[in-house]
Amino acid sequence: MCGFVGLVSQGEVAPEIYVALQALQHRGQDSAGIATMNPEGTRFTARRGLGTVPRALSDEDIATLRGPLGIGHVRYPTIGDGVLEDAQPFFYRQPGVLMAHNGGLTNYDALRASLAERSIHLLSSCDVEPALCELSDALMRRQRSGHGIEDALVAIREMRAAIRGSYSIVAALRLDGEPTLVVVRDPHGIRPAVIGRRADGSYLAASESVALDALGFERMAEPGPDEAVFLRAGKPPIRHGLAAEGPRPCIFEHIYFARPDSVMNGRGVYEVRFALGRQLATRVREKRLALDVVIPVPDTARPAATALAESLALPLREGLIKNRYSGRTFIMPSDLARKAALRLKLNPLPREIEGRSILLVDDSIVRGTTLQRVISMLRETGAAAIHLAIHSPPVKHPCYYGIDMSTEEELFARRFTGSLGDVERDAAAALGADSLTYLSVEAMDQAFDGPRCAACFDGDYPEPLDATDRDLIASERRSSPGR
Ligand code: SF4
Repeated sequence: MCGFVGLVSQGEVAPEIYVALQALQHRGQDSAGIATMNPEGTRFTARRGLGTVPRALSDEDIATLRGPLGIGHVRYPTIGDGVLEDAQPFFYRQPGVLMAHNGGLTNYDALRASLAERSIHLLSSCDVEPALCELSDALMRRQRSGHGIEDALVAIREMRAAIRGSYSIVAALRLDGEPTLVVVRDPHGIRPAVIGRRADGSYLAASESVALDALGFERMAEPGPDEAVFLRAGKPPIRHGLAAEGPRPCIFEHIYFARPDSVMNGRGVYEVRFALGRQLATRVREKRLALDVVIPVPDTARPAATALAESLALPLREGLIKNRYSGRTFIMPSDLARKAALRLKLNPLPREIEGRSILLVDDSIVRGTTLQRVISMLRETGAAAIHLAIHSPPVKHPCYYGIDMSTEEELFARRFTGSLGDVERDAAAALGADSLTYLSVEAMDQAFDGPRCAACFDGDYPEPLDATDRDLIASERRSSPGR
């Protein structure tokens, strides 16, 4: 998962892109980068670094990045050192295109082979690079320079025919003699994208609307999966139709990934998480549990926990305090070290826990390891009972569309079979909880209320993957076990 920003303006864009990237920092802390283009489209500058935005990009970098058109990117973390050559944005010399994306291409190896046959070789293992090469190659096959929107549309269609999977792409190039920002999504619109405008004629494209808020942009639209949007400073957006297959936006963005103050698929993320909590309250109530207090696992579960507390007429308490500065926990060599890492991240408040029957609310269970440790920490702190409430269904299938959650064999819920009740009973025992309540897929759909990808819950992938692509993605994940 990643976050992107594209800005076209009458003035210098790099300082504002830097601010917008910080608003999207939750979407990736592995690396950050900004690239800009001068108005003539003759000078491109890129600065990329490892770590969070302030660590990756210095004041000097921002001063060097000149021009009224630029894009920025934050990359999702992996365990171990990030690799600078995979940091975005990417640049292709001919005819001069900058590109960044959020998503996951499922046919990366086939793309690499196909490009190699054309003597186009990749410098990274980042999957935006083959998309950029396909677009640039298609542009250059039409003509060597002086491209216009019609050329770009043909090239975008060719690129989309070549690449598979999920993507929200932002590209910057000169078209019809003007600095132009282009936004394109995959045919199902799996990954999010939003566009905003400002009174000074600037346009901002971003993964989430919080980036627009940070810079005072008015939210205009979410580009559809069936269109390419071209943006130029001071001019109305130009939209052209593309083939699409019906929207299937990622529901996991609403459950876990996006910031609660973002608006996505026309709905506030906070509002959806609250609605998920309301639905979950119905199932919890049916179980007639003896409960004293609702405690969220910070931070994502707070809106759903608030809805549960309200619906069940229970007090809501912060029983776990999150350390904002703990950073990443690398692979820990011993159980003691792992416990210390968790206590560094989450510390219990004994006064809210001791002797109480707790409804502990979390967004999802992927591997279950952290939740198991949280439950054992709460027991050690003196909780009388721990009942888990999860505001999503059991995660039973890996994501191949850009959320690097796990391989099939690592998914906690796959260990259990039977009805939802059977899974809840066995999963609670495995985690050391007194009970567990998941949201059913039907209840999740009632809260979300719209077309969606929920393949990690129901296995219904918007775009079928062949076995070779699945195996390749799974083996890559096994070789980065900490993700
Ligand atoms: S499989 Fe899950 S995480 Fe992946 S795009 Fe679909 S809903 Fe989102």
